[in-house]
Amino acid sequence: MAQLRDDCFNNDGKLLLANEAIDILVNRVHPIINTEVKELRHSAGRIIAEDIISEKDVPPHDNSAVDGFAVFYDDLSQVNDTNLIVGGRATAGHPLPRLQRRGEAIRIFTGAQMPKGNVGSPDTVLMQEDCKSEIINNIENVIIPPGIQKGANTRYRGEDISEGSKILNVGTQLRPQEIGLAASIGLTSLNVFRKLRVAIISTGDELFEPGVTLKSGGIYDSNRYSLLALIDSLGCEVTDLGILPDSEPSIRETLKSAAMNHDAIITSAGVSVGDEDHLRTAVLELGNLHFWKLAIKPGRPVAFGQIGRTAFIGLPGNPVAMMITFLIIARPALLKLAGASNLLPRLYNVQSGFDYKKKLHRREYVRVSLKIGNTGDLIAYKFPRDGAGILSSLVESEGIIELSEEITQLNKGEMVKFLPFTGVS
Ligand code: AMP
Ligand code: MG
Repeated sequence: MAQLRDDCFNNDGKLLLANEAIDILVNRVHPIINTEVKELRHSAGRIIAEDIISEKDVPPHDNSAVDGFAVFYDDLSQVNDTNLIVGGRATAGHPLPRLQRRGEAIRIFTGAQMPKGNVGSPDTVLMQEDCKSEIINNIENVIIPPGIQKGANTRYRGEDISEGSKILNVGTQLRPQEIGLAASIGLTSLNVFRKLRVAIISTGDELFEPGVTLKSGGIYDSNRYSLLALIDSLGCEVTDLGILPDSEPSIRETLKSAAMNHDAIITSAGVSVGDEDHLRTAVLELGNLHFWKLAIKPGRPVAFGQIGRTAFIGLPGNPVAMMITFLIIARPALLKLAGASNLLPRLYNVQSGFDYKKKLHRREYVRVSLKIGNTGDLIAYKFPRDGAGILSSLVESEGIIELSEEITQLNKGEMVKFLPFTGVS
């Protein structure tokens, strides 16, 4: 179960800055500790639970970076062509079965082990395109022009990974390149944190499951589908607990049983001011709850709490506010619980293509798309409509720009921080 202390999210009810909220989550939430061994083939997206120190050099032997001819550099003339007999072949996986003699060239192919020499070692490879081959007296000769650098076109033992070096850090979420790197030192499996178990719940009497006929006043539940996909993409194990009505007993019962076998429960809706207080009452009955009024737009109300050792995160109902508070606030918390070390997404500097007024002391996120300007800089253009319920705005935007608490006016041409949706899903 999640490692949460009692009162983990308490902040005394004041209006919270986004960074204060993120700090509380990132510093007070502790990762799950259970781990499991996963075959490399099934470890994509998992979070590694230990540092990996290589017991091997990669590559394991000096080898050729090109198709060409392996030579002793000292055999080459610095001013004239050099003519060498081609005395043998080394191909990938089939090394020269003898020592290379001074004064001969060996036909060599990319990835083939560099031959050992009878006196010193061949140290340089000529690309076949840079040489001429000639048959003289039935024997293949290679004519090598002057000017090659000593050591050219060779790859050295251990130049990628040296024995004893750390190749992966605990807390890294495994991407294709980390998995390949583990395979390159011969590992077949990795020790990873077990998947975080997250339950998703929608609340609201107006919500209907897609596929059914809407009743008067109803809308389809979209948040749950966005959330399920968001949790999947974080690499968590997700349980879909469906839609709950605005009724305290049914919310309480579902939360109570979900808390028994999940590390986190995420709900949407029912946390805004003026709501019937079912979520609040239910969570308080079962554990602790802290409503956070965050100084961010969109997405002001977010609830955090715990039921036993299970984290509870109540996101706002408006679909855009739900997505943005998930990405900015809930995502780092879930990643921390899951054992990840890289919690916050990277923001990139882009130029603003629009003027914008905002409220002091509040962080605002504005939906934008990027275009390349005349100078080659990326310029952010605002999605024309701002409503927190306009979900199509997230489909048509590439990301959001973050405007800090201190500013009240953004001017066209100023640099702003951009968070691409591709960086968080
Ligand atoms: P609430 O946070 O309950 O006040 O809801 C705010 C707005 O979000 C209302 O217009 C709700 O109808 C809408 N909403 C709540 N839950 C969902 C959902 N699961 N999918 C789409 N819209 C929702
Ligand atoms: Mg509601």
